[in-house]
Amino acid sequence: MTANIKVAERKCYINGQFVGSGRQFAKINPVDGTVVAQVHEADRAMVDAAVRAARAALKGPWGRMALQARVDLLRKIAEGIEKRFDDFLQAEVADTGKPVSLASHLDVPRGAANFRVFADIVRTYGTESYHLDTPDGKGAVNYAMRKPLGVVGVIAPWNLPLLLLTWKLAPALACGNTIVAKPSEETPSTATLLAEVMHEAGVPAGVYNVVHGFGPDSAGEFITTHPDVNGITFTGETATGAAIMKAVAPTVKPISFELGGKNPGIVFADCDFDAAAAGMSNAIFSNTGQVCLAPERVYVERPIFERFVAALKSKAEALVLGFPQDKATNMGPLISRQHREKVLSYYDLAKKEGAKIVTGGGVPKFGDARDSGAWIQPTLWTGLPETARTVREEIFGPCAHIAPFDKEEEAIAMANNTPYGLASTVWTTNLARGHRVGQAMEVGISWVNCWQLLVPARPAHALRRGQALRDRPRRRPALAQFLFRADQHLRQTVSAARNTVIPAAFSTRESGWGIQHGRIVGPRFRGDEKSC
Ligand code: NAD
Repeated sequence: MTANIKVAERKCYINGQFVGSGRQFAKINPVDGTVVAQVHEADRAMVDAAVRAARAALKGPWGRMALQARVDLLRKIAEGIEKRFDDFLQAEVADTGKPVSLASHLDVPRGAANFRVFADIVRTYGTESYHLDTPDGKGAVNYAMRKPLGVVGVIAPWNLPLLLLTWKLAPALACGNTIVAKPSEETPSTATLLAEVMHEAGVPAGVYNVVHGFGPDSAGEFITTHPDVNGITFTGETATGAAIMKAVAPTVKPISFELGGKNPGIVFADCDFDAAAAGMSNAIFSNTGQVCLAPERVYVERPIFERFVAALKSKAEALVLGFPQDKATNMGPLISRQHREKVLSYYDLAKKEGAKIVTGGGVPKFGDARDSGAWIQPTLWTGLPETARTVREEIFGPCAHIAPFDKEEEAIAMANNTPYGLASTVWTTNLARGHRVGQAMEVGISWVNCWQLLVPARPAHALRRGQALRDRPRRRPALAQFLFRADQHLRQTVSAARNTVIPAAFSTRESGWGIQHGRIVGPRFRGDEKSC
């Protein structure tokens, strides 16, 4: 099986086979509006077939595979992506229009690295164990077994297609699950190429299935409502997350979400000015602002406010909106004309709400093929109240509102005044303040003097809206969401102090110990428990 990313046909991948569909849709290149792929949309029967294949694979060689063999396969997948680096790069760039310079140092390498990271983590992922006292003094031991959830539905967005898809796939596969993946309709290509890599690596049929399509009344909904899918992991908009929560309710599946953000950036007067200006500019405009972690609200301490706004303005105006292959290009188009309509509606709203436009605010004119693409100007505003919708709602474009503040507490209050709570970035040379303000941010990820430094083992989760059914208090690594914790309780046959001998015959029910309504409840002694 060989890939040719020039063949603009993206089929579904079900039970180890590429499968066509009677219904297709065009994938448009946002650089110039040309069609780059015909995508086969999965209907309900195809999603059904994918789920059946994934279920069957759990019982096949994959389900019986030793952990080390699974780990070796994950490493082979990483190598497979690297071997075909250029194919992945071209496919990602064709779908998104992002600069080659960005995709080649972020999207593709990180897509491969995700498999290595979770191959390493899963090998050393332990389980906890508790000692329980029992009235007979011999004690009992509780230990956790971690088992795969089963068939996991992976629903991914378009902004970092391979990176975000594999950030879910790799831990889910590492844990022994099987997958029905739905990439975004805007970015079908790298998920399809990955099927070829999986096939070549020797991943058994049915372990990784790809179904293309949309959300409602399409592949997305068919996965979330499927009674034989055991869990859903989703990255995307908060509103979509809410729809998915409703959709999974009748089949009561565990879900994990990585959703939207309206992130604050706080810049103190004592910051390293040049580093802060460069860092904030990168954070606002990187990937054309289509990063869930991007700061769309910037708060700058008043003594440096005017100078900082001017610095961001000049950085925005220096951005090179060019063809992806041009080395000088550092900003691409938005993902689609449809998304541009949404972002432009906020550009209009900002005007109506009384914003002062520092720079941008419209659509650039190139006089070449780019005029048929989905380009937009990087944009900065000042002068809006904190209540403005432009300041409160996620826009997901290359834009930010900048407001001054006088006191640290005021900046913290404004930063935290949001229904989101995904990420924040604080810039100061005062170490104590960095810790203090960083810790005061009500977010899942807080940065000081940096942005987007991510630990692959941690999901990009939020404290408020982005969070659902995650093991939040202990901030477990990303693996935990793909495992089912099965508690085992064993009564001991020797005194608790020795704590060694465990008879396999004793199960939870037999020991009779457990936790009900938060209280430890004792064993139901039965006359036949003499062996305890
Ligand atoms: P989206 O919610 O529109 O779509 C995401 C995926 O969900 C797509 O595959 C889409 O087809 C599917 N989908 C849409 N409606 C569905 C439904 N009813 N049922 C099942 N599936 C459905 O998001 P997007 O526009 O692709 O991505 C941008 C959003 O993602 C932004 O809000 C951004 O902040 C967020 N995001 C969050 C993170 C994070 O880690 N927290 C990372 C990247 C993007």
